[in-house]
Amino acid sequence: MPFPSDTNPDNEVFALLEKERIRQTSGLQLIASENFTSPAVMHATGSILTNKYSEGYPGKRYYGGNVHVDDIESLAISRVKQLFGAEHANVQPHSGASANMAVYLGLLKPGDTILGLSLDHGGHLTHGSPANASGILYNFVSYGVTKGDERIDFDHMRELALQHRPKMIVAGTTSYSRRLDPEPFKAIADEVGALLMFDIAHLAGLVAGGAHPNPVPYADIVTFTTHKTLRGPRGGCILSKAQHAAAVDKAVFPGSQGGPLEHVIAAKAVAFREALDPSFKVYAQQIVKNASALAEALSKEGFRLVSGGTDNHLMVVDLRPFDAECTGKVAQLVLDEAGITLNKNTVPDDPRSPFVTSGVRIGTPSVTTQGMTETEMPLIANFIARALRHREDASAIAGIRQEVADLCSRFPAYPNGL
Ligand SMILES: *Cc1c(COP(=O)(O)O)cnc(C)c1O
Repeated sequence: MPFPSDTNPDNEVFALLEKERIRQTSGLQLIASENFTSPAVMHATGSILTNKYSEGYPGKRYYGGNVHVDDIESLAISRVKQLFGAEHANVQPHSGASANMAVYLGLLKPGDTILGLSLDHGGHLTHGSPANASGILYNFVSYGVTKGDERIDFDHMRELALQHRPKMIVAGTTSYSRRLDPEPFKAIADEVGALLMFDIAHLAGLVAGGAHPNPVPYADIVTFTTHKTLRGPRGGCILSKAQHAAAVDKAVFPGSQGGPLEHVIAAKAVAFREALDPSFKVYAQQIVKNASALAEALSKEGFRLVSGGTDNHLMVVDLRPFDAECTGKVAQLVLDEAGITLNKNTVPDDPRSPFVTSGVRIGTPSVTTQGMTETEMPLIANFIARALRHREDASAIAGIRQEVADLCSRFPAYPNGL
C-alpha cells in the first residue's frame, strides 16, 4: 500500500526544514549546548529502527524481533564504557532530564535531601528548581559560587552538607565556565556519607576528548546528554559503578520510560565511535582554545566575563559594564537579527529576572565543528560588540548579518552536503 506522502509530498514540513537548514548554516551558532552532528549520526537517527519496539534490555526484551537491536544497543554500551572508563552504562534515557530523574528515582526516596548547584549560579533545572519535578519530589538544598572569584564555594557547600546530611550531592553545571575537579566534591560526599552524582551534560565531549577531568572514577553516578559537546543525537546516558547497575536500569525501564528510542541509540553508538577517534581529542582541545580566545576578545571589547574567563567550552558574559541598558533579552533578540544565535543567561545574583537577565551565554562547540580556530574568534567578538552598539540601526545590523553569512560560508558545517 503506498504511503500518502509518496504521491503527495509534505511540502509544508519539508519547506520549513529547508529554511531551518539555511538558518543553521548561514548564521553563527553560539548556543553552548548545541552542536552540528555528523551525517552518519543523522543517518542512524533517521533510520528504520524507529519502527521497532524494544522494551527491556539486550537479551531481556518484552517483544520478539530484537536480535539486531540487541547487537546495536550492546555496541553502544560497550563503546561508551570504553570511552569514559565506566563499569556500567545505560544508553536508554531519552534526554538529560530523563537520565537525572531516573537516577533520583533509582537511588533515593521522595523527600530525600540532595545538594545541587543553584540555577542562577550555573546549575540545571533538574538540580532542584522548584519548577521541575526534581525540586517538587526531593528536598534540594542549593550551593553556589563565591561573590569574589565566582567559582564554586566548597567551604559553604561543606557547611551545608554537614548541616543537612544529604543522601546525594549533585555536581554539574549548565552555565559555569570553570573546571569542575571531582576531588573536592568526592571529599565532601565521603565526609557526610552521601552518594556523588556528576551531571556532565555539557562537558561530556570535553571529558571524552581529554580536555576536562573525568569524574567517572570518583562518582557513583555520571549522567550526560549526548547532543552537546559530545556531538551525538539528542539523548541521555547514565554511567554508574557496578553496584548501582541494577537500580539504574530498573529506574530507567520500567521505572520512568517505556520503549527505548533504538534509532537514537544507534546514533549514540555512532557518536561514541567518533568520540573514540583520535581526531576527537584535537576537536575537544580546539573547542577550549576557541572559547579562551573568544573570551579574551570579548573582554577587549568591554564585556565582563563571569569568573574572569573560561576553562571549558562556554562563557557567561555580563553585559552591564559594556552597556548598563542592554539586557540579555535585548542582546539575544538583536543578535538573532544579526545572524548570531545565543541565549540570554543570568549572571550570579542577577538583579534582573531569568526572562530578562543581565548576561548571555556563549559556547564554541558548533563553530569549532565548522573548523573555525583562534583566528576567527576576534571577528565573532567584534560582530557581537558592533551589533549591540548599533542595536537601534537596522542597516548596521543587516550589514553585520551579511558579514556573518560570509564568514559562515567559508566554514561550512557540511562541506559534502547532507
Ligand atoms: C542540558 C542539561 C540537562 C538536560 O538535558 P536535556 O536533554 O535537555 O533534558 C541536564 N543537566 C545539565 C547540567 C544540562 O546542561
